Amino acid sequence: GGYGGYRGRFAPSPTGPLHAGSLVAALASYLDARAHGGAWLLRIEDIDEARAQADAAEAIMRCLAAHGMQWDEKPVWQSRRKALYRAAFERLGDAAYPCGCSRREIADSRIGMASDGAAVYPGTCRAGLAPGRAPRAWRLRVLEETIAFEDRWVGTVRQQLATEVGDFVLKRADGFWAYQLAVVVDDADQGITDIVRGADLLDSTARQILLQRLLGLPTPRYLHVPVLTNPIGEKLSKQTGAQALDHAEALPNLLRAARFLRLPLGEPQTLAEFWESAIAAWGDAHAAL
Ligand code: GLU
Repeated sequence: GGYGGYRGRFAPSPTGPLHAGSLVAALASYLDARAHGGAWLLRIEDIDEARAQADAAEAIMRCLAAHGMQWDEKPVWQSRRKALYRAAFERLGDAAYPCGCSRREIADSRIGMASDGAAVYPGTCRAGLAPGRAPRAWRLRVLEETIAFEDRWVGTVRQQLATEVGDFVLKRADGFWAYQLAVVVDDADQGITDIVRGADLLDSTARQILLQRLLGLPTPRYLHVPVLTNPIGEKLSKQTGAQALDHAEALPNLLRAARFLRLPLGEPQTLAEFWESAIAAWGDAHAAL
C-alpha cells in the first residue's frame, strides 16, 4: 500500500515509564504509519500537570528510541499549547456552560454509569448555576443524536452521548483543560489522519467526534487495539503494578507486543528483522488499500 497523506501519532501521558501495555499502543500506531508510508508523530500529553512526572517524557522518548521507533517531527507538549485549547473553547460559545456540581453530587444522582465507570452527568447546571453556586468546571452540552463511526479493528461503534455519558467536562474544576478537548484540538492542529490507540479510549471517541463537528474539524480514521491486562483482568498501568520496559530486552518486548496484536512473524533475530517483518505483517492485516 502506501499513500502520502497519512499522519499518525502516539500520545502518551507522561505519568511514568513505558510498560508492556503502552508498548502495544505505541507499536500499533507506529506499524500503521509505516505500513501506510506515513508520518508518525509524538505528542506528550502532559495537560494534567498534577499527574505528569518530571522525567517521564524523557524516559518514554529514550525507550521508544531504544525499541527502534523514531518519530518524524519535533514532539509536541500539551502543557505549552494552552492558548490553542482556550481559543477552541471560546469557539464553542454557548455549547459550553459552567457547572457547580461536586463529584460527590454527580455520583449521588445515580442516573447511570458510563462504560468507563464515571457517573453520567444528570444535567443539573444545564439551565444555569443554582443561586449561590460557584462555577467549578465547564461542560459541553451534548446533542441527543447517536454518534456512530467505523473503527478499523472493532467495527461499527455507536454511542448516544446524552444517555451514556451526559454533558462532559471541557475545563476541569482544578483549572486544567480536559483531555477530550486538548486531544481534539491537537489531532486537528497536527493534521492527524489516523488515530491508532488502546481500546480503553474507545469510549472517549464519540465525545471527540462531537467536538470535532462543533469545531468544524475533520474526523480522522480510528483503530482501537485490545488492551493488555494483568492476570486478574485489570488494564496494565503503573497503578496495577506494570513494570518499566527493560531496554536491553527490546526484541523480546516487541515480539510479545506483536504476538498480542496477533501479527504472524517468523523468528526475527534482530530489531531490523523484527521491524521489516512486523511492518509487512501489519500491512497485510490492516493496510490493504
Ligand atoms: N494520553 C492518552 C493516554 O496515554 C492517550 C490519548 C490518545 O491516544 O488519544 O492514555
